[in-house]
Parts: sequence; structure tokens; C-alpha cells
Amino acid sequence: MAPPCRAAGRTIETTSLVTKPSVLMVGLDGAGWRLLEPWARAKRLPHLASLMERGAWGALRSTIPALTLPAWSSFMTGRNPGGHGVYAFRRLAPDRYDGRGLASAADLHGPTLWDVIGAAGRRVGVVNVPPSYPLRPVNGFMVGCMLTPPGVAFTHPPELTGELGDYVIDTKTPRDLRPENPVFRTRALEYAAALRRQTERRTAACVHLMRAHPVDAFCVVFYAPDRLQHYFWNRLQPEEGVRPEPDQEIDAALAATYAAVDDAIGALVAEAGPQANVVLLSDHGFTHSPRRSVRINRWLADAGLLAQRPLWTLRRKVIRKALPKTWRARYDTLDHILVNRARTQAWSDTIFTNTAAIWVHAAGRYPLGCVAPGAPYEAVRDRIKTGLEALRDEGGARVFRGVFRREEIYSGPYVDAAPDLVAECEPDFGIVYESLRRDLRERTLFGPFREEGYTGTHDPEGLYLFAGPAIDAHGRDREYPIESIAPTVLHLLGLAVPRSMEGPVCASVLRADHRAAHPIEYTDVETAGVEATGEWGSAEAEAQIAEHLKGLGYME
Ligand SMILES: [Zn+2]
Repeated sequence: MAPPCRAAGRTIETTSLVTKPSVLMVGLDGAGWRLLEPWARAKRLPHLASLMERGAWGALRSTIPALTLPAWSSFMTGRNPGGHGVYAFRRLAPDRYDGRGLASAADLHGPTLWDVIGAAGRRVGVVNVPPSYPLRPVNGFMVGCMLTPPGVAFTHPPELTGELGDYVIDTKTPRDLRPENPVFRTRALEYAAALRRQTERRTAACVHLMRAHPVDAFCVVFYAPDRLQHYFWNRLQPEEGVRPEPDQEIDAALAATYAAVDDAIGALVAEAGPQANVVLLSDHGFTHSPRRSVRINRWLADAGLLAQRPLWTLRRKVIRKALPKTWRARYDTLDHILVNRARTQAWSDTIFTNTAAIWVHAAGRYPLGCVAPGAPYEAVRDRIKTGLEALRDEGGARVFRGVFRREEIYSGPYVDAAPDLVAECEPDFGIVYESLRRDLRERTLFGPFREEGYTGTHDPEGLYLFAGPAIDAHGRDREYPIESIAPTVLHLLGLAVPRSMEGPVCASVLRADHRAAHPIEYTDVETAGVEATGEWGSAEAEAQIAEHLKGLGYME
């Protein structure tokens, strides 16, 4: 008999007859078919290849932005970011000029898949799914994600930590991992090896957890694909962009880490057994890093929508020379040097390097808001949407995949927290962090995109794969949105799908006889979401996590 697990303040004895999960979910952060399908076909990833042969799979459309935190949140809730409240790695601020700090699981509003499964009396095991700090109680167990500050308990229940050995949530990101750096080779080999070990330990921990604490649904996310693809996309997909110097040792180290991810799939699928339905998914895919930066704030200033203070270099000199040190922090700021906030109707900041938030300086919302609600507000939004959608670079290339009013892409109780407009770049274009400051100091709309060592960035096309007794083994299938996974998992567990979940059940992957015997059921009953409570604990802890996310290119 397995030891009891504590959940929601009560102890749940593992007395059920369950010994194996009936649904196994394996998340591969950042994985896409463009990279993995050829490798699977070449038998470089034999476990993935065998799942493809006995499964149904296709593209999984990520959230806007195609970013880890909002995307896994949409996986967990079956809702778009407007329905759960997580848009980015930081908290958005639609009513103030400064930041509101890092987003965490406290910003994720449920119910989550884990809440719904738990409320039905079934048990879940959830490992490393972001955001899962602060931890929230589940009927089963949870291991926290990469937002967990060092030294903080990272499992629910806490005593589980002792069973995991020297578990690594996420490997420290290497500094200066740039090919021109003399230590590049050493750092690259070390990083790939560390991610391989992290993957192997995670696999061993998951196999232990599945045996020692049987659950009905088990879910784990592996971070290694995302991490390697940020740094080494040019090696992994050399047909895109500038080919790197050939280096067999680095290539072998990367291949070994992907092989460890494939071994993880093999080990977990074997442990779950033939009766489990397996779901493989990613939160987004990958593409090459942007080649050029587009300066949205420069465009807004040129359009007269953003009022820039004249003579900013002189203003800064005066402030630096004339003011006592103690006053400088207050006056040497963006708003005092570069932006005349009171006369500004709109500005942009960076959610991720391919997605910009554009804020309209709405009266009644911001302290100095100057755009009246109703027709004036809509006129500003229309002008920006039309202008940016029509924007072409000097060579005639389209810059934005789309520029959306928030209500065009988001719905639900948290839409008010969304930017007034969201601009998604075409893959060749990107926006830099600290874009207000950096865009306004330049006179031209376009510049080179050179950010710390990354050769790959996110793409909206992630992947899904289903295999198991309920699944029709027909190979490639249609695209589904990431919001479709939670309702499909509930259906595979024999549970009714809450109507509040937005994504359609992935019905095309199901066998005809399964569908005939198990029609998809829906329910209007809403499970109460268990909200995460507690916060970073200290400014230092939050700063440590911010530093880690910066190292991954996810923060400014
Ligand atoms: Zn991700």
C-alpha cells in the first residue's frame, strides 16, 4: 500500500484500486513537428516514432502570446488568457505606468483540469507545469515549476520532496552563450549535459511517483526542448538562417539530450501501461530568432500618438549634473526624460520578443489618461491597427502577422487586464525589451535584432499527439487549439466536460467504437477553483526568479 497523500488539508488514503494512470500527459516545452517529425522518421527518437505509428497527432495552436506561462495556463484551464488571467511572465498593468512584478500561479484563475478531476474524486499527479508556484492543493500531489524560488518547499504535500532525491526544477541558464565567446564550446556542452541530467532525473522521479503514489491522471512537463532551441536553433534547424561552425561534439550533446527526452517518453508510457491513453503536447513551437527589430514606439511617435520630450540627451545631462544624487532616481526616469505622458495617447511595451502590448492612454483608467472612452478610444485603436497592419519594411515585407483589439482574441472575466491592442510579429521581425526607452532613442523604424545569444524563438504552432485504447491510429490529424486538451483529457477519464471550457474536444482522434460507446458529455456544473495563495515571500526571491527568466529571454 502506498503512503497517504495529503490534499486540501485532508489526508487521502491511497485505498482506491487505481495502480496506473488512465491518462498520461507528457508536456514537451517548445516542441514542434517541424523539428521532431523528421527525427522520429529517421528513428532518432524511436519512442516518439512508435507513438506516432499508433496514434493521432497534429499541430496545437498556442495562445497569443505564444509563451510558456499563458500557454500552459490555457492547457490547464481550457480557456484563453482572458478566461484565466495569465498573459505573460509579468503582470500586466492596464492602469499604471510602472510594473506590477512577476506573474505566478496566484494570477491563474481556475478551475484547472486538476480541480475538475479532483472534484470528481479522481487523483492527479502534476509535475513542473508552469505556473505552479505558489503551489495549490490538489487531490493527489504536485511538484512545482521553474517559478519556485530556491530554498522554498516545491512539493505538495511537502514530505514528497524527500522522495525526489537531488531533483532539479530547472538548470541555471548559462551567461554569454554566444559563438564568438571563447568559452562558448565548453558552456554549450555543459548546458546540454546539465539539461540531459535534469531530464533523466525528472524521468526517474516521475517513475517513482507513479509507482509510490498511484493517480488517475499524471502530467509532467519537460523543459529541455525549449531551453536547447532558444540557444541552438541554428544547429538544430540549420536550413534556417546563418549556419553555425560545424561542431560534432556539440551536435552529439544536443542529440543526447533529445534522446533523453525520447527515453523519458518511452519510460513513462511503459510505466503507465497499455490501458493508459497518452497525450503528448507542447505549449508552443519554435522558429528562428527575428532578423530585424521593428520599433513600434518610434512609429507611434512619428504618427503623433506618442509625445516625445525634445532634447532628451540635454535633459538627462542637466538632471545628472544639476540634481543631488538622492533626487536623481526620481527624475532620471523614462517619463521625465523621454516621454511626455500627459500628451501621449498610446505606447507599446514588450510581452515577448514577437508580441507587443499596445496601451491606449484611456481617461479614467490611467492617472493622466487623455483618450476619452467611446469613439475617441476606438479611433485611436483603429488608427494603430490599420497603420501597423499595413506596415511594410523597405523591401516590402509584411511586419505583423496580426494586430488585434483585445476583444478580438480574448474573452472572459480577465479581458480588462489585457492590452488594448496586441501586435504579433511575422517571424523575421521582433521587438526588443525595454522598447519604450530603446525605440525612442532611434530615428528609424527598423534596426537589427541582436539579443543575447539566442538563435531560436517561439512560434504559435506547437504539437499534440494522442495514443492509446481510445485513440484511432490514423497519424496526422487536424490542428486544435491548446484549449482543447483539458476537455479531451476529461472525456478520456470518463468525466463530463464543463461548458465553460472553450476548446472543442479533440473528437477526430477518437476511435469510432469508443465514440459510440462513450458519447462526449457536457456539464453546466462549475467546479470551484482552488486559488493559489501566498506570494514570493521576499523581494529577493522574486528577483532571483526574474533573473532566471531574464536568462531565458523571457523578461526585460
Ligand atoms: Zn514554453
